[in-house]
Amino acid sequence: MADDLDLFNSGVLTGEREGAVLPDRTLWESKKGGVVLVECPQRIPCNPCHTSCPTGAIRPFADINDTPKVDHSLCTGCTLCVASCPGLACFVIDLTFSGDKALFKLPYEMLPLPEKGQKVWCLNRTGDCIAEGTVENVTQPKKDRTYVIHVSAPKEVVGEFRTIRAVK
Ligand code: SF4
Ligand code: SF4
Repeated sequence: MADDLDLFNSGVLTGEREGAVLPDRTLWESKKGGVVLVECPQRIPCNPCHTSCPTGAIRPFADINDTPKVDHSLCTGCTLCVASCPGLACFVIDLTFSGDKALFKLPYEMLPLPEKGQKVWCLNRTGDCIAEGTVENVTQPKKDRTYVIHVSAPKEVVGEFRTIRAVK
């Protein structure tokens, strides 16, 4: 098992870091369509999350190297930033999906693409399987850009579930 320093240096988020803060829970629970989570804590020259956002939820960058700042109240969960982020660092979580399940809208660049109705393993940031999910939709919000996979999974894994692996 890697220690925290190894994980930090590999880019895996550990602990509370700017860019990995969850949205206000009351706002989040009331937002049909979900809100964006941006896990991008390092200063790099990049801003497609901001330029792709039609509502201004990803705030303007004073400096291209700034880490993204988000006004979650403006987010509609449209996933345009999810499809545009080259670092696969944006995703949307909709807590209104059902009583016990959330809908996770995740960037996905592997082939073959999963299909609607397919069961998948939900993986955490270090690749461990933490739950089983169901693919609810497969979308491509922007032509020739990253696909966005919609997966329903238990609400308990909201803070950890970040990608999928097909169930063989
Ligand atoms: S999901 Fe849509 S509205 Fe929300 S931050 Fe991303 S681009 Fe903006
Ligand atoms: S587009 Fe992605 S990698 Fe680039 S600044 Fe925004 S969140 Fe970070």
